Amino acid sequence: MLRLNNLQKSFGSFRAVESVSLNVGEGELVTLLGPSGCGKSTTLRCIAGLEGPTGGEIWLGDTCVYSAEKRLDLPPEKRRIGMVFQSYALWPHMTVAENVAYPLLRQKLSKADREAQAMQALELVGLAHARDTSPGRLSGGQQQRIALARALASRCQILLFDEPLSNLDVRLREQLRGEIREIQRRLGITAIYVTHDQSEALAISDRIVVMDKGLIVQIDGPNELYSRPRTRFAASFLGSVN
Ligand code: ATP
Ligand code: MG
Repeated sequence: MLRLNNLQKSFGSFRAVESVSLNVGEGELVTLLGPSGCGKSTTLRCIAGLEGPTGGEIWLGDTCVYSAEKRLDLPPEKRRIGMVFQSYALWPHMTVAENVAYPLLRQKLSKADREAQAMQALELVGLAHARDTSPGRLSGGQQQRIALARALASRCQILLFDEPLSNLDVRLREQLRGEIREIQRRLGITAIYVTHDQSEALAISDRIVVMDKGLIVQIDGPNELYSRPRTRFAASFLGSVN
C-alpha cells in the first residue's frame, strides 16, 4: 500500500533522513519509533508531501507520488492522505462539524455530501453530539478525536499520525490509542504512527520500525522486537519501557 524506496531528505548538508526503505501493507499500522531528531517527522512529512525529499521514491498503492529520478512530486492534496498532529490544529472560529468538513471543500462534493461525510466521521469518534460546539470548549482528548475525524472525513487511503497523544495525560493517552487502533482496524485503513514512546509503540502496532539518525535499525512485530532486539541501540531504547 505504501512503499518507500531509499527515501532521503537533507537540510543543506545535514542528512535528516539518510535512507529509509519500507513496505506497509493494506490495513497495517506501522509505527516509526526512535529518539528525538532521528527523522520520524521528516519521513512522515515527506510521505504527506509537506516536505520535498532529496532522493528516492514514494509509492501510494500503484501511484508514484514522489520520484527523484523522474522529477515527480505530487502536491499533498493529490495524495489522499489524512494527517493527525500533536497539536490539534483546529480552527477556533468554526464549529466542530465545520472543522471536520473543511478539508472536503477541496473535493467536488455537494454541501449535503460534505456534511454527511463529516457527520459519519464524527460518529466514528463518538462526538456527533458536539457538532455545533466550538472546539475551544472541548477537552484535549475530545479535540484530538475531532482532528482524527477531520482526517477520516476525506476518506483518505492512508492515515499519518505524528505523536498524536503527547499533549495528553497518561490515562487519556492509553484510552485514545485504543480508540485510534479500534477505528483503524474497523475501517481497515493503512496507518503510519510516529512516537518516541516505546510502550505506546508496543501497544498499538502491527510492526515497529526502529529508527536512529535517519536510518532504520530494525523492523519487527512488537513481540519479536521486545524479546529479540537485533542491535544494542534497539535493546537500550526498548529497555526503558516502563
Ligand atoms: P522528535 O521526536 O523530536 O519529534 P523526529 O524524529 O521527529 O524528532 P525530525 O523532526 O524528523 O525528528 O528531525 C530530524 C532532524 O532534522 C533533526 O535534527 C532536526 O533538527 C532536523 N530538521 C528537521 N526539520 C528541519 C528543517 N526544516 N531545517 C533544518 N533541519 C531540520
Ligand atoms: Mg517529530
